[in-house]
Order: sequence, then C-alpha cells, then structure tokens
Amino acid sequence: MKKIQIAKPYILDEDIKNVVEVLKSGQLALGPKLKEFEDKFAKYVGVKYACAVSSGTAALHLGVRALGLKAGDEVITTPFSFVSSANCLIYEDVKPIFVDIEEVTFNIDPKLVEKAITKRTKAILPVHIFGQSAEMDPIFKIAKKYKLKILEDACESLGAKYEGKMVGITGDIGTFAFYPNKQMTTGEGGMIVTNSKKLYELCDSMRNQGRANTKDWLLHERLGYNYRMDDMSAALGITQLKKLNWMIEQKRKIASWYDKELKNIPGIEVPRIGLNRTHSYFVYVIRVKQGKRNLLMNKLTKKGIQTKPYLPAIHLQPFMKELFGFKRGDYPITERISEETLALPLYIGLKKKDIEFIVKEIKYELDS
Ligand SMILES: *Cc1c(COP(=O)(O)O)cnc(C)c1O
Repeated sequence: MKKIQIAKPYILDEDIKNVVEVLKSGQLALGPKLKEFEDKFAKYVGVKYACAVSSGTAALHLGVRALGLKAGDEVITTPFSFVSSANCLIYEDVKPIFVDIEEVTFNIDPKLVEKAITKRTKAILPVHIFGQSAEMDPIFKIAKKYKLKILEDACESLGAKYEGKMVGITGDIGTFAFYPNKQMTTGEGGMIVTNSKKLYELCDSMRNQGRANTKDWLLHERLGYNYRMDDMSAALGITQLKKLNWMIEQKRKIASWYDKELKNIPGIEVPRIGLNRTHSYFVYVIRVKQGKRNLLMNKLTKKGIQTKPYLPAIHLQPFMKELFGFKRGDYPITERISEETLALPLYIGLKKKDIEFIVKEIKYELDS
C-alpha cells in the first residue's frame, strides 16, 4: 500500500554540503554561519535585527522576557494555536487571557480583544495560524490606544503577508520556527526579530546565559538560558532560506490543486483567505462537517494517508483545565472549528496525481 505522510522537509545537496562544511571547519557553535543566517533572515523579512535560537518556543519565551512581562500580568491571545504560544506566558507566571477566533482564517477575533483588556493587561500575542496572518490593523490600533506590547507568533507563517507586508515584523517582537514541518527548517530552531536595538541586545544576551555583550565569557549580567542555535543548524537555515520563496510557491501550487478538487464536495470546506492577505501554507487544513472528521481521519489512516486533527483547543488541554479551570463552552467558535479541522498531506514532492488519489479516497469515504 502506498503511504503518504503529512509533511516532509525539503533537503537538497546544497543543504547537506553547507552543513558538512561546518562540521569540517571545527567551529560548530557561535561561528560565522550563525551571523550569516541572522543577517540574511533579517533582510528577507525586512527587519533590523534577527536573533537565532534553539526553537520557536525559545524565541517566544525570550520575547516574553525581553518585553518585561512578569508574574500577575495578563496577555491576550488565542486558544486556537499550538500549545507553546500560551506556554511561553505560563513559564513566567503571566496569565494567558484567551479570546475566541473568527471563522474565515481561524485567527484571533480583533473585535473581542478590547473587551478582554483589564488593568493587568500588558500585551497582545496574536498567532498567525496555518500560514495566514491575523487581522492586524485593528490589533495595532488597540495596542496603541491602551499602550500594550505586541508579541507576534509567526511560527507557522514565514513568508505570509498582510497588506503586502511580511508577517512577524510589525509588532515589538516577532517569532519564527524552523521545526522540520515548517516552511523552512534548521532541524530544531527558531528566530526572534525586532527593530529595537535594546530588545535585540536583551534577547542576544539571554539566549547565551545572560552574558554581557563584552569579550568577558564569564560575566553574567542577567538571568539567561542556553537557547543558542548551533552552526550546523544555521548553515542549513542559509541554504533553506535561499529557496524559501520557491518552496512557498510549490506548496501554494499543491494547495491550489486541493482547492480545485475539494471545493465542490458537500460536507468539505476548503481554506479561506481573509482580505488583504497572502497565504504561505504551513499545512493545508479543511473543515469536515456533520461530525465526520474523526471518522474520515481514521479511514484515511487505514488507506495509508496521514492526516492530523489540527488543532485541538489549548484551553481544553488537561493541564490548562487544571491550571485555570477552563471548561467546554468557554470558547465555542474555537471548540467547534477544532472539532472540524483536518490537515491533509502537504509537502514538496507531492504530485497532482497524489492529490487526485487523496481526494478520491476522501470522496469515497465520505460517501460510504
Ligand atoms: C511550531 C510552532 C511554535 C514553535 O515550535 P517549536 O517546536 O518550539 O519550534 C510556536 N507556535 C506555533 C503556533 C507553532 O506552530
């Protein structure tokens, strides 16, 4: 039986060659590839400073620390996300205040943000989900009005645009991730971007054990972490970044094949794109109506087609319910959407005939 997995990194000989070069050089950490990757990444997204770290979660955590968020503060964010966009707050005893999402893009609903503001609110943490930007104009307006910081989780949306501008670069701090299923990979890895020299220097110090920005290796100015990115990862990042636009285009093409084949199937809803946005597909997520999502997922697994129920609602994760007392019904739109969404296989190398095969199986399973 043919097996089709949900995601796969796209690795070429140029990637392998660049990593091997680092291995042969003997400088495996804090070497020239790290700086080169950061400079090229900053240029690609259009910011002054980029600070590479060991994961997207590390990027978010340093973002929270650099913005000075601390115990008792509140940050408004979305419950329809990967768990780390809320965890990064909990690490610092900052309280995630969830507001529900909107139906078109599955992103935080800006209309609900203002009502959630209290005296303790310090920031908004929008997540650009599945490769599509949240509606940022109203969010920036609210942030300005109430003097709130913005920490953007763009970990799923590298290359996506909002009003023609890259996501992740307009807030105080933006974060990206390079896990192997993302738009580009470094193995494990992440990036913090900002236009503020002060915030960059804080992140640069904290990822490296709180070291001072001097030559003195054993002078620690503040509490820090080992969140550094090694040079093998950075080398891979450089060659991945070089073909990123092409990779985004390829995934867009595969998504358009799915759109065309799936859009007239009753009970299936294909991804919708919000106004003024350009999608950079992280995953291709459909909605399966009439309570048939899990059934379809199980049947496709039996046919060798891997899918995933992206994403479960964060507030209903066991540890979240225990920590904050969340319950079913708290965020009804998120809950309904998270019971209907299903990510289909999406990676470079999938051919039109693979998509036709997957769609044929979906049709067959929904009819039977
Ligand atoms: C992938 C991802 C992250 C970061 O993930 P890491 O595995 O730590 O690199 C953060 N937020 C969202 C929404 C993500 O999808």
